[in-house]
Amino acid sequence: MQDISQHLQQVLRRMALACDRAGRPAHTVKLLAVSKTQSVDAIMTAYQAGQRDFGENYVQEALTKIPALAHLGITWHLIGHLQSNKASEVARYFAWVHSVDRLKIAQRLSAYRPDTLPPLNICLQVNIDAQESKSGCTIAELPALIHAILALPRVSLRGLMIIPQAGNEQAFTDLVNLRQHLLMTIPTLDADTFDTLSMGMSADMDAAIAAGSTMVRVGTAIFGHRLTR
Ligand SMILES: *Cc1c(COP(=O)(O)O)cnc(C)c1O
Repeated sequence: MQDISQHLQQVLRRMALACDRAGRPAHTVKLLAVSKTQSVDAIMTAYQAGQRDFGENYVQEALTKIPALAHLGITWHLIGHLQSNKASEVARYFAWVHSVDRLKIAQRLSAYRPDTLPPLNICLQVNIDAQESKSGCTIAELPALIHAILALPRVSLRGLMIIPQAGNEQAFTDLVNLRQHLLMTIPTLDADTFDTLSMGMSADMDAAIAAGSTMVRVGTAIFGHRLTR
């Protein structure tokens, strides 16, 4: 557990260094600690070391941990594939969903988001390198999807998310350019709100930051290797 705090500091230093090399202020990249398969105690250790944003992949697993840590004021992000029958729970317990890839999911999240909470922050997951096995919408689907989502009252469209194939660092630059293109071609899209590029993991966060990532999702480098589910 001691290690978690040390690893967290190492990751933050690595991020600061990558920002420095890219000529970016350190505060422009946020660290999302990916705590899938990790215990409540492990999350607590990272929290006590100062970490506030945590990412979970599996709704069912997250729902066993989120209530146990409710007193802490953690910002929870869903980064894994979301089935529409889980949308009501996700809309209540999470502040962010990075993995929205179709309109039906966004509509349900908006419909179920409680009025007592601010709009749910969502990112569109894009299948940037056209992998058959991965979820995410296609680039061609984006404009229509964005138009429809901007009309939903209880979600806030914050940006784009990718999980590229290992080693495909070009994907990071492609996503930066894609965001710029969308901002230019969709006038109702606001650059100050549509400000998030969720990209980079333990192995490739440095390259992602160099390209322009605003949120890196890091699991292994903080918590160590995951036990299998
Ligand atoms: C597990 C996971 C991560 C973190 O991966 P690490 O290699 O452990 O840093 C990031 N994003 C998503 C979508 C994941 O599922």
